[in-house]
Amino acid sequence: MRQGLEGSVGAGPMQASPELERTVAEIVDASRILAHEGIIDSFGHVSARHPNSPGHYLMPRTRAAELVGAEDILIFDLDDALVSKSEARIFAERSIHGAIYRARPDVVAVCHHHAPQMMPFCTSDAELVPVFHLGATMGATVPLWDSQDEFGDTNLIVSTRQQGDSLARTLGANWTVLMRGHGATVAGRSVRELTFRSIYGARNADVQLKAAQVGTLRRLTAAEAVAASDFNLTPFAMDRAWEQWTRRVRGADEP
Ligand SMILES: [Zn+2]
Repeated sequence: MRQGLEGSVGAGPMQASPELERTVAEIVDASRILAHEGIIDSFGHVSARHPNSPGHYLMPRTRAAELVGAEDILIFDLDDALVSKSEARIFAERSIHGAIYRARPDVVAVCHHHAPQMMPFCTSDAELVPVFHLGATMGATVPLWDSQDEFGDTNLIVSTRQQGDSLARTLGANWTVLMRGHGATVAGRSVRELTFRSIYGARNADVQLKAAQVGTLRRLTAAEAVAASDFNLTPFAMDRAWEQWTRRVRGADEP
């Protein structure tokens, strides 16, 4: 899989291992699933913390998520420096990923996207709230980060350590953070959890928008949101969805 790593010595982040191979495969699957489900298009990206070296993370080179393969996955340290020997173009927005891994030792995977369902909540004063049980996996509270507050007029891309750290502070202990005029960033304790949360967070936004058109919005209570999220983020529910989603992107004849 990772050509040229066979001769590496010691247990550094470049050391080939079954865990590393599995994590790379999950990033590839998650990238393709999130593209297939309409969460990521030509823009947006998925990363995961290195399974054997928590001070590093894995992220694709700049490429549309639907096209990402194992050969595209690169290794970065938590200062967002490229560790892999590669000339490939890398995402400026890796600053989002590194900042969250630095701030949140419990986070194993991060997705940044601009899903169309989320955008009304990134571009208005309407609050995104859990309105149904699966949607609650986005988190009971979804804060909004506004780059204007600390950085004034920018191109809205999070491309510096300071901007990433600011975003991570607004995310706080939550799992999804909206970015004013830009999109959303989601965190997970596994790649599967991240994928589930990203998809159902966007579906929650869609349901909320439609509910508000037909009547008075009835949101979940905070306690309902926590209980429903806990229930749906068990392997029992997540693995069922993961099996279906991976089957769709791999084709029926592949495991
Ligand atoms: Zn973006």
